[in-house]
Amino acid sequence: MSWWLAARSIDHVVLERGEVANTWRTERWPSLTLLTPNWQSRLPGFKDEGGDADGFRTLPETIAFLERYARLVSPPLKTHCRVSAVRRAPDGYEVVTAQGTWHCKAVVLATGGFNIAQRPKLSELVPAGVAQLTPVQYRDPESLQQGGVLVVGAAATGAQLADEIQRSGRPVTLAVGEHVRATRTYRGKDMQWWMDATGLNDERYDEVENLTRARSLPSFQLAGYPDRRNIDLNALSSLGVKLVGRLAGIQDGKAQFSGSLRNVCELADLKLNRLLNRIDEWAAENGVSGAVDSPHRPEPTRVEASPPLGLDFQRAGIRTIIWATGFRPDYSWLEVPVLDRKGNIRHEGGVVSEAPGLYLLGLTFLRRRKSSLIDGVGDDARDLSAHLAGHLGARSGKAAGLKS
Ligand SMILES: Cc1cc2nc3c(=O)[nH]c(=O)nc-3n(C[C@H](O)[C@H](O)[C@H](O)COP(=O)(O)OP(=O)(O)OC[C@H]3O[C@@H](n4cnc5c(N)ncnc54)[C@H](O)[C@@H]3O)c2cc1C
Repeated sequence: MSWWLAARSIDHVVLERGEVANTWRTERWPSLTLLTPNWQSRLPGFKDEGGDADGFRTLPETIAFLERYARLVSPPLKTHCRVSAVRRAPDGYEVVTAQGTWHCKAVVLATGGFNIAQRPKLSELVPAGVAQLTPVQYRDPESLQQGGVLVVGAAATGAQLADEIQRSGRPVTLAVGEHVRATRTYRGKDMQWWMDATGLNDERYDEVENLTRARSLPSFQLAGYPDRRNIDLNALSSLGVKLVGRLAGIQDGKAQFSGSLRNVCELADLKLNRLLNRIDEWAAENGVSGAVDSPHRPEPTRVEASPPLGLDFQRAGIRTIIWATGFRPDYSWLEVPVLDRKGNIRHEGGVVSEAPGLYLLGLTFLRRRKSSLIDGVGDDARDLSAHLAGHLGARSGKAAGLKS
């Protein structure tokens, strides 16, 4: 956003509570690698594929990448400057920090969509003696107590942690609800290559059939490992991970799982096959079929005939639960009344129309399917900076000269 604001000669400041790449430095587990290939972290005015366009950045590489970008953009940046309140003021907004209060005509909330790792209410019923961790607290398998681990949630985070922990020798049980199955490669190309080439990642918020649903879908079951292996449920079962249904309750020291495992797996298989059909159609229509491998379909997800519906933590030797049940943004500091009942900001593609001059960036499907990826921020920032310039122009009574 700073790159685009500078390009439009809009005076601004960037306030960051930590350092550049703070989230990657402080909130992610050390072995995390990006699930997006290096070529896919395209930022405005910056092409940096780290010498291996198809590789996947490790956490230190991701931090170094963002530091390089910050040096290039050289934004008017104040680090260690936590915003403790944003409120309306007569001429715009007041942004409060320990280093002083800023008065501005517009504010872009680029504080991230994944600030708080969610822990369901039933986590309060977990028996004492079973450790509970969120992915933000998780470091590595060696830091866990000896014994079994229940990972709750099978999106990218849950599947990656199940893979890592099972490989370390600790037996993993994975509670699986609705999930989005994906394969790392298809017809010899990376899945993200297909998502990009077909235009699926560019699909806009005002084009999808059900935006609320699109915004709440779990992430692809994908990881960016050098061997490009899959981490779908078949891959995890082959490692020895035990699959159970969605965690529905905890009573008397026992976990209760929903009986829907087979159904959610069939649905995920169906949706993956639908996606692959769409890719095949696009490849045929665009003359790509001859240049890639032949179409194929993955083996349906293997589910045991009667997956267990209950599990006694003590008898099963479960010593740790990891809540990989999703993340949500933190707006505890926002004093502008624009939150809906679920605590999300009401907005139209990042424009908060109830509070003119307030913008959002970096949230799931904000303006495009790719909005919450590093790769998606640039296009959204371009669009929103144009709208913002229009807002400033309208306020000052001048023609902004930019299309919103
Ligand atoms: C587990 C996980 C894995 C991911 N993997 C990938 C991946 O492989 N590829 C990919 O492209 N994306 C990935 N993402 C998404 C990615 O982390 C970012 O969400 C995305 O790049 C958008 O960046 P952002 O700058 O909007 O948000 P963030 O990276 O979250 O940055 C927000 C910044 O705002 C700061 N901030 C927050 N509150 C305040 C405050 N009150 N005052 C001052 N500063 C504040 C934070 O310190 C932080 O630096 C992943 C996300 C998660 C959770």
